[in-house]
Amino acid sequence: MTPTDPASLPGKFAQFVMLEEAQAAVRSALPQPGSEWVAPAQAFGRRLAQPLRAGVAHPSATESALDGIAARAADTLGAAAQAPVTLRVVGESRAGQPFAGEVKAGECVRIYTGAPLPPGADAICPVEQLEFMAGEAEVRLLTPARVEDVRHLGDDFAPGDELLPAGVRLTPARVALAVAGGHAQLPVLRRPRVALLSTGDEVKAPGTPLEPGEVYDSNRYGLHGLLLECGAEVLDLGHAPDDVDELAARLDTVGGADLLLTSGGVSMGRYDFMRDLLLERGEVTFWKIRLRPGGPTLLGRWNGLSVLGLPGNPVSSLVVFELLVRPALTGQQLRGTRLRAGAPFASAGQKTAFWRGEVRGGEVVPYPKQSSGVLRSLSDARVLVRVDPGQAPVAGDEVEVLWLD
Ligand code: AMP
Ligand code: MG
Repeated sequence: MTPTDPASLPGKFAQFVMLEEAQAAVRSALPQPGSEWVAPAQAFGRRLAQPLRAGVAHPSATESALDGIAARAADTLGAAAQAPVTLRVVGESRAGQPFAGEVKAGECVRIYTGAPLPPGADAICPVEQLEFMAGEAEVRLLTPARVEDVRHLGDDFAPGDELLPAGVRLTPARVALAVAGGHAQLPVLRRPRVALLSTGDEVKAPGTPLEPGEVYDSNRYGLHGLLLECGAEVLDLGHAPDDVDELAARLDTVGGADLLLTSGGVSMGRYDFMRDLLLERGEVTFWKIRLRPGGPTLLGRWNGLSVLGLPGNPVSSLVVFELLVRPALTGQQLRGTRLRAGAPFASAGQKTAFWRGEVRGGEVVPYPKQSSGVLRSLSDARVLVRVDPGQAPVAGDEVEVLWLD
């Protein structure tokens, strides 16, 4: 008997689990991430560990939104009726150097964007509507000064306002907001540390000659990129041959990782040694998901290290990553929508299928080759189309899709 015969399998573990059970198991196999403080330039793409409140007001004073003059709005109303108003220019307020005095009736000061509005003034007339006279001692306004062009103290946010909730991804705009709110260090979740190992005697490093029957180690690169996209720190363990002792030795070297991702060696073949290793010498949480592609996926543990064994077929490994690993690492799936099917999608019986789909004129049609060995299908396709057990959508039906780009 081989370990692929369930009757001979040691210990207890789940087989043929539903996708949702597999997702939950992978999520709980990952430890809760701790947090750390980083400088804003190191925070892009990280997730915020706790809510962030403003420490200062923005703007920090009532100020001008434009270059022009600051005056009393009531003095300038006449300029609306094609009758320009003339004011005395009594000084200037520039960013960082406010006007020291007060603007009185009939007076104004030159002002620039971001400069504090002097006491007495309540409105701005932009430079495009001004004509300076008498060596800039006087100015004629062609339109009234507008109160709308004043930005008030704390308009954007006031001290104590919540700027960002916990858990959000720090986009450039959010990092900028945090800095504007007075934060010089940001609390972010620690990056998950994920080790990556590809297996298979036929799997060769790029840049080396390829004999018939061999394949370049594309999975390790695809998975590496996906891990980086998910904000993980990648420990690249390289490649191991199909040898159970060699695999055991490699797994023993993995220190300090939250998860080990492996590629290959978990299917039904005699030489699928990742499977044998975990079944016979490690622990297995589940082996095989009711899923296509990616059915043979295995979740287990090796001396306390969580191991997710992905099938070697290139499409399977990358699709299973999207379905199980991305949500566990980031809390988010690929962006999903519903689209109208332009052609039938096959049922996968009791399995949940994710067919590669092309989008044409707002409709989704199956990519012509759906074999899990056709790596081009993932690169060319724009969506994964979900077909639940027992379903077989036909043209005109709405289907659930996940966007790959
Ligand atoms: P396995 O899951 O080990 O049975 O492998 C299934 C298929 O995936 C075989 O055709 C392998 O050659 C291919 N394969 C395995 N590992 C990789 C890899 N790292 N990159 C690309 N293809 C692979
Ligand atoms: Mg193999």
